[in-house]
Amino acid sequence: MMEEFIHSYRVKPLIIKDKRVLRDSYTPSSLPGREEQINRFHNILSDLLVDSPPDHTSFTGKPGTGKTAVAKHVTGKYKKEYPDLRTKFIYINCSQANTAYRVMYQLNRALQVLVPPSGYPYDVLYDKFMDAFYQLNKRLVVVLDEVDLLVRRDGGRLLYSLSRLNYDLPEELSLTLVVISNTADFLERLDPRTRSSFEPTRIIFPPYKQPQLYQILHQRAELGLKPGTWEDEALHIIAAKVAQESGDARRAIDVLRMAAELAEKEGANKLTVEHARQALETVNEEEIAITVRTLPLHHRLILAAITDLMEMKEKQKVDRISTGRIYREYKGKASKMMVPPLTMRRVSGILRELEAQGLIEIVMDYGGARGNTKVVKAMALSPSEMKKLLSSMGVVF
Ligand code: ADP
Ligand code: MG
Repeated sequence: MMEEFIHSYRVKPLIIKDKRVLRDSYTPSSLPGREEQINRFHNILSDLLVDSPPDHTSFTGKPGTGKTAVAKHVTGKYKKEYPDLRTKFIYINCSQANTAYRVMYQLNRALQVLVPPSGYPYDVLYDKFMDAFYQLNKRLVVVLDEVDLLVRRDGGRLLYSLSRLNYDLPEELSLTLVVISNTADFLERLDPRTRSSFEPTRIIFPPYKQPQLYQILHQRAELGLKPGTWEDEALHIIAAKVAQESGDARRAIDVLRMAAELAEKEGANKLTVEHARQALETVNEEEIAITVRTLPLHHRLILAAITDLMEMKEKQKVDRISTGRIYREYKGKASKMMVPPLTMRRVSGILRELEAQGLIEIVMDYGGARGNTKVVKAMALSPSEMKKLLSSMGVVF
């Protein structure tokens, strides 16, 4: 009797069926909303089926738009469906391999050549790779994910040399580059020499809209949660909010996971709209805190000045938070901290940065006699929360 009781108590209704499905690293077997990108990439690679070299390709789009997922999905499909293809697929993440040397090291490793991870002459590494490539006698498809990080550190040299390789290779060999970037203008920012020789076919990944995010969340719920343990409306709410904010699937899935965890912690037997709302807030606050913590000193002081003015505005002691008013308040803070203040012009620039980071909202105020000026209309956190956060970072109020 007792044992049975304990047992049934322990396995009290759980919502989460498989936590892995709600994590970032999980890739589902279908990717709703990315059919077009999948088809295009699949078509590009279909040259391999007639033993021809596919075009170089670029994927561009904001974080969380499914670029990595699509690359892995399509290359995985080729590997599985055509095991005898005379092709080797290599995936390299340039957030780790962010120099030409490290990429070359990874390429060698992919072809089973062991070379030291640093300190070797680059040319030797390159020659070893080419030897192994000839020996392998297959076509290569090399995915360089997060390639912005490589280019930022090393420029476009490696892309230049790899993309031109095909001119010197015998017909039965080829190297196809698939470069994945979070910034849309990544190709335009390459040096002119690289840009004129490397012209990949472009596949663009727009941010997800609400219906697509809903589909993505629905799929995760079906795979990761127990049947009947969620309100459909909760998924709609998350999809709507994230579509409006960013269209980032990673964030939508994150919120779903947090909502499920909140529901479980409460001992609820269903993930409700309320849990979704709470999770949206929590994740957001955490993200804001992370952003604020990385701000340089003067950015923090300016944010602290705005916080004070927001508080005054709540008490109706000021009516508009103009740039000039912020500057005066900020100068007071700077002198309190005994640091020389920046110029008005610079502060104006920082306000725009804070806006770009989503910490404040700026609008034009056409104030009639007082003239037109930029004013801060809103802040990402309430004044009291922002004060707490900034104080914990050493800002004196
Ligand atoms: P990116 O590389 O563009 O930053 P990812 O491909 O890593 O984005 O996707 C982020 C997260 O969202 C991953 O967990 C991925 O599995 C998931 N995801 C992205 N797009 C889809 C989709 N269309 N369907 C299902 N899951 C998706
Ligand atoms: Mg990615």
